[in-house]
Amino acid sequence: MRGSGSVYKGCGCRDAASGHQLGRHCPKLCQRGHGSWYFAAPRGYGRPLRRGGHATRDQARAALQNLRRTRPLTVRDWLDQWLAARGKLRANTRRNYRYLFDQHLIPALGHVLIRELDLPSVQATFDAMSRVGCGTGPLRPPPSRGRAPHCAPRSTRPSGRD
Ligand SMILES: [Zn+2]
Repeated sequence: MRGSGSVYKGCGCRDAASGHQLGRHCPKLCQRGHGSWYFAAPRGYGRPLRRGGHATRDQARAALQNLRRTRPLTVRDWLDQWLAARGKLRANTRRNYRYLFDQHLIPALGHVLIRELDLPSVQATFDAMSRVGCGTGPLRPPPSRGRAPHCAPRSTRPSGRD
């Protein structure tokens, strides 16, 4: 799950053999009154946040929206929202961004709250990207058909001061 989160019907029943919660896969969920509506909200790290107990899908959706409004944004949230908000992007361009986010930015900075993001952290990430040959210039297509370079070489970076 990525981006803005999802809602689903689930329950607390457990599998008799394994003891694992059945969650949204419980066969009784089609029965009236069984289970409740949950939302799952992505975090900047680890598993998504899940909360149940909502009587209807709309209530779960409203709770998710409320959480989004009040929860501090992480770099991962921000990057996901930024990309989702770019309506018209060529497929290659969108794939480039996704690759850059997933391979470099999110592993390094995804868990950081936007309000706590500082210049040294960003600089350290870009330095690390440079060391593996990934510049901050225009992006090349991600590896496909066996071609490795996905980032522009240093020579294509804008020269001079920033
Ligand atoms: Zn159940």
